[in-house]
Amino acid sequence: MHEVALMGDILDLIKNDAEKRNIKRVSKVELVVGELSNALPDALEMAFDIFKSRNIEMLQKDAELIIIKEEAKAKCVLCGLEYHPSQHVAVCPECNFPSGELTAGETLKVKSYQGE
Ligand SMILES: [Zn+2]
Repeated sequence: MHEVALMGDILDLIKNDAEKRNIKRVSKVELVVGELSNALPDALEMAFDIFKSRNIEMLQKDAELIIIKEEAKAKCVLCGLEYHPSQHVAVCPECNFPSGELTAGETLKVKSYQGE
């Protein structure tokens, strides 16, 4: 489950930022997770719980993870149609050609976090 490693990286990022802001304990993390980001929301939640159970200093015991799912979107460069692609190589349903450019869905980022 690579989400554990991903969550470790995310928490490291937050930790570095929190130190600059003099935040000692994080109580809430909001993540944006794209449908095509290769990270599964359920697995990210499990990973978050694993880190909480390890009692790492920066996370409150009851810290909350909010996942905002970003739907994938693609726009065809040939006909301009916007549609919902099911994979990274987006085949336009009009042109039947892999001419779609992904405009959303690959995001994996921290939207915000809270702490004190
Ligand atoms: Zn098209």
